[in-house]
Amino acid sequence: MSTLFLRTLRDDPADAEVPSHKLLVRAGYVRRAAPGVYSWLPLGLRVLRAVETVVREEMDAIGAQEILLPALLPRDAYEATGRWTEYGDALFRLKDRKGADMLLGPTHEEIFTQLVKGEYSSYKDLPTILYQIQTKYRDEERPRAGILRGREFVMKDSYSFDLDDDGLKGSYAAHREAYQKIFARLGVEYVIVAATSGAMGGSASEEFLAVSEVGEDTYVRCVDSDYAANVEAVVTPAPESIPFDGLAPAQVHDTPGTPTIESLVDWANATLDGQFGGSDTLKNVLVKVREPGGEWQLTAVGVPGDREVDFKRLEASLEPAEVELLTDEDFAANPFLVKGYIGPKALIANEVRYLVDPRVVDGTSWITGADEPGRHYVGLVAGRDFTPDGTIEAAEVREGDASPDGKGTLVAAKGIEIGHIFQLGRKYTDAFDVDVLGENGKPVRLTMGSYGVGVSRLVAVIAEQCHDEKGLRWPRAVAPFAVHLVIANKDEAAVAGAQALAADLDAAGLSVLLDDRKASPGVKFKDAELLGMPVVVVVGRGYAGGTVELRDRFTGEASEIAVADAVATIINAARA
Ligand code: ATP
Ligand code: MG
Repeated sequence: MSTLFLRTLRDDPADAEVPSHKLLVRAGYVRRAAPGVYSWLPLGLRVLRAVETVVREEMDAIGAQEILLPALLPRDAYEATGRWTEYGDALFRLKDRKGADMLLGPTHEEIFTQLVKGEYSSYKDLPTILYQIQTKYRDEERPRAGILRGREFVMKDSYSFDLDDDGLKGSYAAHREAYQKIFARLGVEYVIVAATSGAMGGSASEEFLAVSEVGEDTYVRCVDSDYAANVEAVVTPAPESIPFDGLAPAQVHDTPGTPTIESLVDWANATLDGQFGGSDTLKNVLVKVREPGGEWQLTAVGVPGDREVDFKRLEASLEPAEVELLTDEDFAANPFLVKGYIGPKALIANEVRYLVDPRVVDGTSWITGADEPGRHYVGLVAGRDFTPDGTIEAAEVREGDASPDGKGTLVAAKGIEIGHIFQLGRKYTDAFDVDVLGENGKPVRLTMGSYGVGVSRLVAVIAEQCHDEKGLRWPRAVAPFAVHLVIANKDEAAVAGAQALAADLDAAGLSVLLDDRKASPGVKFKDAELLGMPVVVVVGRGYAGGTVELRDRFTGEASEIAVADAVATIINAARA
């Protein structure tokens, strides 16, 4: 450590809010070069490399082959798939000296697809899985928490190419298992969540989320089963439809001053027979939607009045179309939209696309707008009095909601995305016409999967899950050094003994960080706690009496061990 390129800091960096960010900077693992752009210093780089090694070993184990593509890429490939435009501001675009457009790769589906098209032409070549561990660039709107969300970061991305759907499912399953092994080896606590509603068939996409309070992803899980899903992917269980017979006819009521759900519910409870709540009302939220390359179109989303429209869920349901709220001008241009009193009748009469929450099944009866100021329908029955154009997953998901698997209720939690596996299908092979000659002599269009692991993000995630108030606490699999050996005794024999012990441990294959600095034991102990090696050995006062101290950074336990068999004892502790 007397020569190590390392300065630890006493104070938290001013821009850091998240524990892992504070600690990785204070402990000298990383340094900020620009917003969302970080340099890796010796200790940090060793952790990064250790994570890479685990990822690489498990990818190799499923037969994936490592290659390395450029990060600097030509525009045309991304033009062919529309992503040059679709990626929006997150794409780092640049021009070369001849004025040609280039980009820094945010992910590499296009280039891998083109590569396979160029090399392979027969069904005999397939299936194949290719991967790389590479620096990616995304001009994130909100780079955050140091390396947790960078604008430059290291990702493992792999791509599978198969002849048919069964093959793709196999490649996907292989990745899923490899990821489970990777995250288990790294000691990360995580959940696998459905990332898409599965409308494309099966679990077309899943995310691996590290459980963390500071995560930006909210997911829900069932308290009584293993169901877990991204909020965007939750499919609302639809109730059975109800027969119409016996339902009272709809009636329009004067409901003065009831533009909000709360005021409407108060009116209903004061005026009508029975007890009413927000879930008896149908709220219609107006948005405009634009399909890629299309025009803006009015769309109304009908949800039970006790729920808000969750914009992220709405966007996910309408993807790849864009969604925006209506402006005052939009309302002015469509006078049939009476704010606060919008009902299904005017929407349908004016050919506004009308999508409703899955709870709005045939036979359900609603209090909803009558399209005039201060007037509402009571008893407007879905399927009898109005027929929507379809259903949409847009209503907010709440704790206590029924789990889609019917096995209990949902609770919410926060996570950090550390991996994503995705059955892409033929989106990219269609864009580049990637066919090989099939067994029967006919061309076969390949089908693809893409799979990512946030390698540099994992360093922060592990730090986030493994620290205490004193500092980092690395799991053995990724610690920069197996043993931190502190010389806390100025006596010449002790110093020489410590150096000999370090050399012996090194010779036995353990990496040792030797604190041979001219600093007080107190400073050294504090740094050892901050830096977070799993095993700390202190050559201190006890040395003359033939003992050194062995500390476990994880459990905090300390014991005196005999110098005579220190090497064997420390090896055992380091490999435990
Ligand atoms: P996020 O939702 O966190 O922005 P993403 O869905 O855009 O991630 P993918 O395109 O699926 O990410 O990328 C694969 C993996 O790369 C992610 O699971 C994540 O671990 C990692 N990753 C993505 N963006 C970043 C970033 N800005 N910084 C660090 N790691 C990232
Ligand atoms: Mg993702």
